[in-house]
Amino acid sequence: MKLKIPSNCQDIRAAVKSQIIKDILFIAAARVIVFLPAYFYGYYSRPVNIFGVILVEVICLFPFIKTRFWKWFTSARAFEGEVIAVKHRRGNKVTKTPLIVSKQTPTKAMKKTPVAGRFRQVIKVNIQKISVRLPNGKIRRVRYVCDEGQRQPEYEVGDHVRHYYGTKYMQKIPDHEKTDDQSSVMCVMCGTSNPRSMDRCAYCEMSLIDPDIGR
Ligand SMILES: [Zn+2]
Repeated sequence: MKLKIPSNCQDIRAAVKSQIIKDILFIAAARVIVFLPAYFYGYYSRPVNIFGVILVEVICLFPFIKTRFWKWFTSARAFEGEVIAVKHRRGNKVTKTPLIVSKQTPTKAMKKTPVAGRFRQVIKVNIQKISVRLPNGKIRRVRYVCDEGQRQPEYEVGDHVRHYYGTKYMQKIPDHEKTDDQSSVMCVMCGTSNPRSMDRCAYCEMSLIDPDIGR
């Protein structure tokens, strides 16, 4: 079975496509912005200023790294397999929260490091590291980082999972032989568990992919 987002879930396909386009536009825009002054300063006119050209190329790597563009060829790829290991870990994440958005009263430490109306904040996160064995025996490793207190799907060893191209969460496929949780369907975009009767996610309103597809 080819693992494709079903045709009745066009909104998921569109969301993935628009994210890829956004990434490309961001990289292209950064290129143009860096290239124009370089061109103006004669880096590209003969004789070519080799150091200038290298500088431009190095700067142009940043948007590529920021979007982690290679993910579209690596971790975003579709797969199906069985969870063989799950590791939970707690960690820290540094965020820059805009003062206006945050309902929290900034503490002294936060006020100390304001960055253009934002404050740096260290928040606790839960990290889930999951190993999935594919039918060909290869192992795919998936890592989910989730702010503490925020709900995220939990995976267990033995779960049968399916990952669709470009989506965030692997969908758990219920095993009909075990009397597992067959009454819910997981949203691949936000991880919310929805009643089976729904065809859209109650949280993010994206289409829900039928986990029984292809049976
Ligand atoms: Zn959702």
